[in-house]
Amino acid sequence: MRLYLSITLLLLNLMAWAYILYHSLSTETDYAPRNAPATSIEQPYSDKSECSTVNSPPIMGNATKTNLVHSKDTANVAPKTTVSTDLPLKSREKIIPIPNLAQYLAGLGLHNAQATDSSLRVDLRYATPDNFVGQTLYADLSACYVLPRTAQMLAAAQKKLHAQHPNYNILLLDCARPRRVQQQLWNAVKHLPNMRRYVAPPQYGSLHNFGAAIDVTIVDAQGQALDMGTPYDYMGELAQPRHQQRFLKSGQLTQDQVNNRLLLRRIMREAGFKAIESEWWHFNACTINQAKQKYRAIE
Ligand SMILES: [Zn+2]
Repeated sequence: MRLYLSITLLLLNLMAWAYILYHSLSTETDYAPRNAPATSIEQPYSDKSECSTVNSPPIMGNATKTNLVHSKDTANVAPKTTVSTDLPLKSREKIIPIPNLAQYLAGLGLHNAQATDSSLRVDLRYATPDNFVGQTLYADLSACYVLPRTAQMLAAAQKKLHAQHPNYNILLLDCARPRRVQQQLWNAVKHLPNMRRYVAPPQYGSLHNFGAAIDVTIVDAQGQALDMGTPYDYMGELAQPRHQQRFLKSGQLTQDQVNNRLLLRRIMREAGFKAIESEWWHFNACTINQAKQKYRAIE
């Protein structure tokens, strides 16, 4: 009897660990889990990214504090040219973009990153229909709004990039993202089992909702984006840094593509950003707990 109980307990223990392991591998995280060690592929994370060091008033507006938990932020989806035409995205709801979004974000205390460093390049994909939803989500927005400290860190990253490659520039693809837009992204995929795992439900949100995360790539002197192995918002493992060594070995990523990712990651980390293992383009300026303590989410 005692042996039977021991075996049963052992099996339950194994099942619990298998469950934990599965979720730790399959859950997309947009930021470092609480008390988690810094992820490091090339070098240790440099913790200069305390949102609490921002010398600016907290975002207030009419927003309410959100209850964020671990989640992934972006629609980690292939560009619309590769989205299957039989997806129900064709029957998606008509999106009404938030009016006067730039004015709204500036009114919340967010900064235009290019006002801090005019050499930063901006191409907000959600400000055009060239995104996986196929509709414009940011009307009248061409600037990248972020927390003041995030803007300073971006300027520092740009400086580090220029020191190594004077003709390269950081290209900003997404910056502050109101939670209303997060809801619209979610609505576009929530009925699609293969896609919704790549989008954070709005109740979870992301650091983009605080202006404390950015999606970026690097462009060359001609403005051409470096080849990172997948497009921005590509939905699949090929876009995930945690798998890139495997794809390098299998030949699905080239050494040049991996090197481009490593260059981006290195300059961002040196400027204090934290990379994530699920998207090569996404970087956090602080942890979610730091953001929650000091700021309110952008509604
Ligand atoms: Zn992102």
